[in-house]
Amino acid sequence: MAASELRVLSAGTSSGIGPKLKDLDTCVHCGLCLNACPTYRELGLEADSPRGRVYQMLQVHEGKAEISDSYQQHIDLCLACRACETACPSGVPYGRLVEAARAEIEVTAKRPWRDRMLRNFLFGRVLPSAKWLRLLAYPLYLYQHWGIERWMLRSKLLARFPRLLQLAKLAPRAQFPSFFQQYGKSFPAEGAQRYRVAMLGGCMANVCYARLHEATVRVLRRNGCEVVVPAEQTCCGALHVHAGRKAEAQALARQNIDGLLNGGYDAILTNTAGCGCALKEYHDLLEDDPAYANRAHEFSRKVKDVNEFLASIDFRPPQREYKAWVTYQDSCHLTHGQKLPSPPRKLLKAIPGVTLKEMAQADHCCGSAGIYNVLHTDLSMSLLTKKMGNANATGAEIITSANPGCLLQLEAGVRQHGNGQRVMHVMEVLDEAYGGKEGLADS
Ligand code: SF4
Ligand code: SF4
Repeated sequence: MAASELRVLSAGTSSGIGPKLKDLDTCVHCGLCLNACPTYRELGLEADSPRGRVYQMLQVHEGKAEISDSYQQHIDLCLACRACETACPSGVPYGRLVEAARAEIEVTAKRPWRDRMLRNFLFGRVLPSAKWLRLLAYPLYLYQHWGIERWMLRSKLLARFPRLLQLAKLAPRAQFPSFFQQYGKSFPAEGAQRYRVAMLGGCMANVCYARLHEATVRVLRRNGCEVVVPAEQTCCGALHVHAGRKAEAQALARQNIDGLLNGGYDAILTNTAGCGCALKEYHDLLEDDPAYANRAHEFSRKVKDVNEFLASIDFRPPQREYKAWVTYQDSCHLTHGQKLPSPPRKLLKAIPGVTLKEMAQADHCCGSAGIYNVLHTDLSMSLLTKKMGNANATGAEIITSANPGCLLQLEAGVRQHGNGQRVMHVMEVLDEAYGGKEGLADS
């Protein structure tokens, strides 16, 4: 359907790709979700609450309102954290609604050409391409590791561009070698093999969280898994879905299904809760594609967050003592999206010597939310300041989470407001407790 047709439709009837009436109708407008919503708590505006956004979507669906700039802003400002889903007694599928609203906006909104070019480059070229990601990682690595970044951050030059300075402080760290080097390899189980699993690397995380991925592989091996890193995998499409770029997300989903479904894996694993959420919802993404709808269901059933997987098998805890006070920050996409608040806590508590100190409001969003911290930096930083206050109050020396995006945000939080805490993924804590590479035979 052409964008011009959609613009006409948006003023009168539903475009067909926007939020569905059956989902919108589940909201009874009770308001029980309001205080769970970070944007409502921060801004105090009904239009920036889950109930307010559902109401606006309904107005657009019924043709009583247009897809205006103001509608776009209220939908854009949502973190897609899905805390409202957890709070809602009526089972409103808010994640699906906001993704559909964004998909509709994406094809109707008139963005400036520079915006369009940047989005096309980022979503269409960079994220799905190992080649592009590796290529862009080199200058980032040189910038960060050759002292240029340190010089830039101290220089008066960046201070004259406060927005740029803010973004420079949030940049992820490039790591070498990247995890792309492990694609196509498999790693044997330690001891008797109990499972054969596929490990997904994602997109940016292959470059910026390569050491976390390696730690995850080791933890799985120590739990009797042969870990395969399939070369056929690609980006999961989560960021595309959040940005409303449904067609690109569908193409990536088909590629992952074709490449992985028939690999004979007991489970398809990710250590990135945001990716896990998207991968588990491929059946929604491809529900209108008769060639893939059933296979997408089968694929989604095989996908597990690595914490979920380890907590569901006969987990082998580390034997040595690992004395540490640890606090856990819920990843929204694990706790609210996948409804899995317990597995990471179960694993942490199983480590001898670890004391889990729960922070207040651990399930409140840290403000990371994909690229939200880049797009809506002020609001994101305000959420992070509160988060760090709660983390500091626990006295924990390690802040853990289950999603690289949250780790990145929390690292910035520690630099700005912290007490020198270490920020680690649950898998990194486990790996360290097991002894890292020590005693683990190489493949
Ligand atoms: S989304 Fe759920 S909790 Fe919020 S107003 Fe609607 S029914 Fe109530
Ligand atoms: S997803 Fe999060 S930010 Fe968006 S409406 Fe729900 S609670 Fe608010």
